[in-house]
Amino acid sequence: MTEMFETTSPEETEALGQRLASTASPGDIVCLSGDLGTGKTVFVKGFAKGLGVSEPVVSPTFTIVQEYREGRLPLYHFDVYRIEDPEEMEEVGLDEYFYGDGVCLVEWAGLIKDLIPENAFDVVIEKEPEKGDDFRKITLIRPESRETLE
Ligand code: ADP
Ligand code: MG
Repeated sequence: MTEMFETTSPEETEALGQRLASTASPGDIVCLSGDLGTGKTVFVKGFAKGLGVSEPVVSPTFTIVQEYREGRLPLYHFDVYRIEDPEEMEEVGLDEYFYGDGVCLVEWAGLIKDLIPENAFDVVIEKEPEKGDDFRKITLIRPESRETLE
Protein backbone atom coordinates (compact mmCIF):
# COMPACT_ATOMS: atom_id res chain seq x y z
CA MET A 1 0.00 0.00 0.00
CA THR A 2 1.27 3.41 -0.95
CA GLU A 3 0.47 6.55 1.00
CA MET A 4 1.45 10.08 0.02
CA PHE A 5 2.07 12.95 2.37
CA GLU A 6 3.09 16.56 1.93
CA THR A 7 5.00 18.47 4.56
CA THR A 8 6.00 22.11 4.69
CA SER A 9 8.40 22.09 7.66
CA PRO A 10 11.01 19.80 9.25
CA GLU A 11 8.70 19.46 12.26
CA GLU A 12 5.96 17.99 10.08
CA THR A 13 8.38 15.47 8.57
CA GLU A 14 9.54 14.56 12.06
CA ALA A 15 5.93 14.07 13.13
CA LEU A 16 5.44 11.63 10.26
CA GLY A 17 8.49 9.63 11.37
CA GLN A 18 7.15 9.65 14.90
CA ARG A 19 3.81 8.31 13.70
CA LEU A 20 5.37 5.44 11.77
CA ALA A 21 7.43 4.52 14.84
CA SER A 22 4.32 4.10 16.93
CA THR A 23 3.36 1.02 14.86
CA ALA A 24 6.89 -0.38 14.46
CA SER A 25 7.60 -4.03 15.28
CA PRO A 26 10.86 -5.93 15.83
CA GLY A 27 12.48 -6.75 12.49
CA ASP A 28 10.98 -3.80 10.63
CA ILE A 29 13.24 -2.23 8.02
CA VAL A 30 12.60 1.25 6.69
CA CYS A 31 14.51 2.33 3.57
CA LEU A 32 14.87 6.06 3.08
CA SER A 33 15.64 7.56 -0.27
CA GLY A 34 15.81 11.07 -1.61
CA ASP A 35 18.56 13.50 -2.56
CA LEU A 36 20.97 15.00 -0.06
CA GLY A 37 19.18 17.47 2.19
CA THR A 38 15.65 16.28 1.52
CA GLY A 39 15.00 15.23 5.12
CA LYS A 40 15.90 11.58 5.58
CA THR A 41 17.72 12.28 8.84
CA VAL A 42 14.91 14.56 9.97
CA PHE A 43 12.49 11.64 9.46
CA VAL A 44 14.79 9.35 11.48
CA LYS A 45 14.88 11.91 14.31
CA GLY A 46 11.09 11.81 14.49
CA PHE A 47 11.10 8.02 14.35
CA ALA A 48 13.59 7.86 17.23
CA LYS A 49 11.45 10.22 19.26
CA GLY A 50 8.43 8.01 18.54
CA LEU A 51 10.26 5.02 20.01
CA GLY A 52 11.11 7.03 23.10
CA VAL A 53 14.76 7.78 22.34
CA SER A 54 15.69 11.06 24.00
CA GLU A 55 19.37 11.24 23.10
CA PRO A 56 20.12 13.30 19.98
CA VAL A 57 20.16 11.46 16.67
CA VAL A 58 23.25 12.26 14.67
CA SER A 59 24.00 11.23 11.13
CA PRO A 60 26.04 8.02 11.22
CA THR A 61 27.95 8.95 8.10
CA PHE A 62 31.33 7.78 9.34
CA THR A 63 30.23 4.78 11.34
CA ILE A 64 27.63 3.36 8.89
CA VAL A 65 25.40 2.37 11.79
CA GLN A 66 24.43 4.12 14.99
CA GLU A 67 22.52 2.22 17.67
CA TYR A 68 19.97 3.65 20.07
CA ARG A 69 18.80 1.33 22.80
CA GLU A 70 16.78 3.46 25.16
CA GLY A 71 13.46 3.30 23.28
CA ARG A 72 10.59 0.81 23.11
CA LEU A 73 12.64 -1.16 20.52
CA PRO A 74 16.35 -0.93 19.63
CA LEU A 75 16.86 1.45 16.70
CA TYR A 76 19.65 0.89 14.21
CA HIS A 77 20.24 3.93 12.04
CA PHE A 78 22.29 3.29 8.90
CA ASP A 79 23.62 5.80 6.41
CA VAL A 80 25.28 3.97 3.54
CA TYR A 81 25.97 7.05 1.43
CA ARG A 82 29.71 6.48 1.48
CA ILE A 83 29.59 2.79 0.66
CA GLU A 84 31.50 2.19 -2.53
CA ASP A 85 30.94 -1.51 -2.83
CA PRO A 86 28.00 -3.39 -1.27
CA GLU A 87 30.52 -5.99 -0.08
CA GLU A 88 31.72 -3.46 2.48
CA MET A 89 28.41 -4.06 4.19
CA GLU A 90 29.32 -7.66 4.91
CA GLU A 91 31.81 -6.43 7.47
CA VAL A 92 29.03 -4.62 9.26
CA GLY A 93 27.15 -7.89 9.82
CA LEU A 94 23.98 -6.58 8.23
CA ASP A 95 21.83 -9.65 8.80
CA GLU A 96 22.33 -9.44 12.55
CA TYR A 97 20.58 -6.10 12.35
CA PHE A 98 18.01 -6.90 9.67
CA TYR A 99 16.84 -10.10 11.30
CA GLY A 100 17.31 -8.92 14.85
CA ASP A 101 15.09 -7.60 17.61
CA GLY A 102 15.11 -3.97 16.58
CA VAL A 103 14.07 -1.63 13.82
CA CYS A 104 16.47 -0.65 11.02
CA LEU A 105 16.28 2.70 9.26
CA VAL A 106 18.56 2.88 6.24
CA GLU A 107 19.43 6.18 4.55
CA TRP A 108 20.44 5.76 0.88
CA ALA A 109 19.18 2.17 0.91
CA GLY A 110 19.08 2.25 -2.91
CA LEU A 111 22.87 1.92 -2.91
CA ILE A 112 22.61 -1.54 -1.32
CA LYS A 113 19.24 -2.56 -2.71
CA ASP A 114 20.28 -6.16 -3.40
CA LEU A 115 20.98 -6.58 0.32
CA ILE A 116 17.61 -5.29 1.50
CA PRO A 117 14.98 -7.91 2.40
CA GLU A 118 11.72 -7.79 0.45
CA ASN A 119 9.58 -6.98 3.44
CA ALA A 120 11.01 -3.48 3.90
CA PHE A 121 9.11 -0.22 4.08
CA ASP A 122 10.09 2.46 1.61
CA VAL A 123 10.05 6.15 2.36
CA VAL A 124 10.83 8.41 -0.59
CA ILE A 125 11.30 12.12 0.06
CA GLU A 126 11.23 14.58 -2.81
CA LYS A 127 11.43 18.33 -3.13
CA GLU A 128 9.27 20.27 -5.55
CA PRO A 129 11.15 23.53 -5.95
CA GLU A 130 8.17 25.38 -7.39
CA LYS A 131 6.32 24.73 -4.12
CA GLY A 132 8.98 26.38 -1.94
CA ASP A 133 12.17 25.42 -0.09
CA ASP A 134 10.40 23.65 2.74
CA PHE A 135 7.92 21.63 0.72
CA ARG A 136 8.45 17.85 0.67
CA LYS A 137 6.47 15.09 -0.95
CA ILE A 138 6.82 11.93 1.10
CA THR A 139 5.76 8.56 -0.27
CA LEU A 140 5.40 5.68 2.16
CA ILE A 141 5.21 2.20 0.70
CA ARG A 142 4.36 -0.51 3.18
CA PRO A 143 5.42 -4.11 2.52
CA GLU A 144 2.57 -6.47 1.69
CA SER A 145 3.04 -8.17 5.04
CA ARG A 146 2.25 -4.89 6.82
CA GLU A 147 -0.63 -3.52 4.83
CA THR A 148 -3.07 -3.33 7.67
CA LEU A 149 -2.93 -0.16 9.70
CA GLU A 150 -2.53 -1.15 13.34
P1 ADP B 1 19.14 14.16 4.40
O1 ADP B 1 19.34 13.26 5.58
O2 ADP B 1 18.05 13.71 3.46
O3 ADP B 1 20.41 14.44 3.66
P2 ADP B 1 18.58 16.14 6.43
O4 ADP B 1 17.44 15.52 7.15
O5 ADP B 1 19.91 16.06 7.06
O6 ADP B 1 18.64 15.57 4.93
O7 ADP B 1 18.30 17.67 6.15
C1 ADP B 1 17.09 18.16 5.66
C2 ADP B 1 17.16 19.68 5.69
O8 ADP B 1 16.01 20.25 5.07
C3 ADP B 1 17.21 20.22 7.12
O9 ADP B 1 18.06 21.32 7.15
C4 ADP B 1 15.77 20.65 7.36
O10 ADP B 1 15.66 21.70 8.30
C5 ADP B 1 15.36 21.12 5.98
N1 ADP B 1 13.92 21.06 5.72
C6 ADP B 1 13.15 22.09 5.26
N2 ADP B 1 11.89 21.73 5.08
C7 ADP B 1 11.80 20.42 5.44
C8 ADP B 1 10.73 19.48 5.45
N3 ADP B 1 9.49 19.77 5.04
N4 ADP B 1 11.02 18.24 5.87
C9 ADP B 1 12.27 17.89 6.24
N5 ADP B 1 13.33 18.74 6.24
C10 ADP B 1 13.10 19.99 5.84
MG1 MG C 1 20.99 12.18 6.26
